[in-house]
Amino acid sequence: MKVSVVKESAPGERRVALVPEVLSKLRAAGLEVDVEAGAGDRSWFTDDGYAEAGAGVVSRSEALAADVVLTVGKPDAAAVAALRPGQVLIGMLSPLTDPDLVQALASAGVTAISLDMLPRTLPRAQPMDALSSQANIAGYKAALIAAAEYGRFFPLLITAAGTARPARVLVLGTGVAGLQAIGTARRLGAVVSAYDVRPETRAEAESVGATFIELSTIGPASGEGGYARELTEDERLAQQQELAGHIARHDVVITTAQVPGRRPPLLVTEDALKAMAAGSVIVDMGASPLGGNVAGSEPGRTVVTDNGVTIVGAAGLPSTMPTAASAMYARNVTALLLSLISDGALALDGDDELLAGVIVTRDGAIVHPALSHTNEPEA
Ligand code: NAD
Repeated sequence: MKVSVVKESAPGERRVALVPEVLSKLRAAGLEVDVEAGAGDRSWFTDDGYAEAGAGVVSRSEALAADVVLTVGKPDAAAVAALRPGQVLIGMLSPLTDPDLVQALASAGVTAISLDMLPRTLPRAQPMDALSSQANIAGYKAALIAAAEYGRFFPLLITAAGTARPARVLVLGTGVAGLQAIGTARRLGAVVSAYDVRPETRAEAESVGATFIELSTIGPASGEGGYARELTEDERLAQQQELAGHIARHDVVITTAQVPGRRPPLLVTEDALKAMAAGSVIVDMGASPLGGNVAGSEPGRTVVTDNGVTIVGAAGLPSTMPTAASAMYARNVTALLLSLISDGALALDGDDELLAGVIVTRDGAIVHPALSHTNEPEA
């Protein structure tokens, strides 16, 4: 069975789905691996490196013809058009927010497996958890960006020219990315506070060195699968108002809050921004075309408010550390592939809880329970 890696086509995407290091494991399992020429260039993995590890270096059309095609992000329309029935596509396909792509893959008869739909709380899913591996990188990079943008020191510094107090950093949202941001800011010497709407994250935030902030005006909002639920309108307003006081007391705010399939919650309002001191920095990891965690943030852009607050719309952070991000993603994909291979072929048991979570389209239909309504005829 042939597995291939295609070069990513999304603007700014520098990652690649496999790195040479994982090829020996795949080949030992009986897989042949092809890599599109230049696929690893932007993450510093050369064609020669892949060839030395036993891969064939092939054209794009050859790569798109393999039994299993691997990507990091969504394939472009031309790549989808080149796929044929029965092929398997594995990547982070964002099916909840791209129904057109899902429909196109179903119509093409492709079996689409989306790693961002993985049931992450299953212990055997952990080595395949690409959302976590990439969120770890994003949280680390967000803290570095915050430190680089901030006009003062993160650590306490005592020098002949005077003493610098440590920066006060607030991390909003303490999932995988938030915890890594806390740890990184702490290692840089900042004093870190953190808040999340899921109270069970308190112990985790404290274990990496943050002081956990509890809000008195809203209760817990844990949802399903370890995620947060969307807040009601009243809860949202209460949260924004109470958070504003905490935000104003911090020099740096890193926001990471997400609710699956929804627009990121707005945590830092216009009013909260106005109450911040000039020179404060916010890194909004929730920044998206739908809006982010911070009023006025724009993905991929840095804006400065009239009162001197720098807001970094930090989109696509894993791609800014493409070598580490690709290596971790490659291990996630490899773990998934190895778990699916039986006698040199893919065994896709749709009754398996893990597979049912990730298979989005199959045999010409949209099969994922979270999406299959889009297949129903309109009334
Ligand atoms: P995420 O990216 O979906 O969200 C980031 C954080 O934002 C979450 O902690 C969430 O609670 C928080 N958030 C959402 N709305 C908020 C609001 N209005 N105000 C404040 N915070 C808000 O989360 P994630 O990092 O992908 O992790 C989600 C969960 O999955 C975590 O509990 C994580 O530990 C869990 N997880 C479990 C496993 C496992 O069991 N093996 C593996 C990976 C992740």
